[in-house]
Amino acid sequence: MSSKKDIRSFNEDQLKEILISNSFKPFRAKQILHWIWSKSAHRFDEMSNIPVNLIKFLKENFVINFIKVHRMQKSSDGTIKNAIELYDGYIVECVLIPTKDRITACVSSQVGCSLNCKFCATAKLKRMRNLNPDEIYDQVVLIRKQSEDYFKRPLTNIVFMGMGEPLMNYNNVLKSIEKISSKSGLGMSQKRIVVSTSGVPKMIKKIADEGVKFKLAVSLHSAINEKRTSIMPFNDKMNLKELEESLSYWYKKTKKIITYEYVVWKGINDTDADISALVEFCKKTPSKVNLIQYNNIDDPDFVQAPVHILNKYIKTLESYKIKATIRKSRGQDIDAACGQLANKS
Ligand code: SAH
Repeated sequence: MSSKKDIRSFNEDQLKEILISNSFKPFRAKQILHWIWSKSAHRFDEMSNIPVNLIKFLKENFVINFIKVHRMQKSSDGTIKNAIELYDGYIVECVLIPTKDRITACVSSQVGCSLNCKFCATAKLKRMRNLNPDEIYDQVVLIRKQSEDYFKRPLTNIVFMGMGEPLMNYNNVLKSIEKISSKSGLGMSQKRIVVSTSGVPKMIKKIADEGVKFKLAVSLHSAINEKRTSIMPFNDKMNLKELEESLSYWYKKTKKIITYEYVVWKGINDTDADISALVEFCKKTPSKVNLIQYNNIDDPDFVQAPVHILNKYIKTLESYKIKATIRKSRGQDIDAACGQLANKS
């Protein structure tokens, strides 16, 4: 590992300053950043419009850190899972999910996770560190390329539903989204990005204040406080009341409807009382419900509830005019589905 600084940690103004204080022309900053972000240059030598003495200076003082594909697996349903290696050797996973009219990139935001959801494979890994903005951005670049190479179609959507809790790496996630959506990056609309959070009220309020344009999904799984704490123990500190307040604040500020992600497990949240609690929670803020299929992580406590229970959820929610859908799982055969990302490789 090099002790030189990653050039991608500097923005244009910072790079300009460095150039000026070393007697180079400041306009070169824009050119250098264009090579790095828009053209994904991996080496300074590729920068054909940069003078030789400046390339020499860059090589002596900086590195360009890039993610490397450590292992790629393809599911029988077309899903591609990449285990990617970061500059310091850590591995995280990102997934390409193809459907009839979309290609979605599911990206990671942390190495491991600091939260402790009992049903999630990533939670079994300790949180080692946050990903840098460029490490998140590079996952999107990689999947965008795979989308063109393997499906001859453009990447259409991005979901922050990989490893980690995006709102616990708030600054870097926001910076990566800025780059992904800016003209000097990938120029993808923020409307096609979903940030999925386990529900960190303080941070939800903060992003609401930032005027962000992406969508928010919240992993709810139970609208009964004690029950949610038993499956998502951090809920003890940031309870449902606080979550609910932060979500109505989000709606007030952004006017964007929230998606609740919800898995129904046998003997855990499969009763009428669970359904009523969810209805009451949904009534508080404009929202819809995505019932996601449970992906097995070899824990006997968690078993997917049968389809008639899911249908009961849907019917009841719809009778209150709350939109609800069942989301089919993808890439299960290669452990690429929600909650299964745990670097088995
Ligand atoms: N930390 C964020 C994003 C990562 S998890 C969050 O919690 O939202 C992405 C989604 O997968 C979340 O809704 C999470 O609750 C869900 N999930 C976790 N483990 C799962 C499993 N074993 N089966 C199905 N979904 C799971």
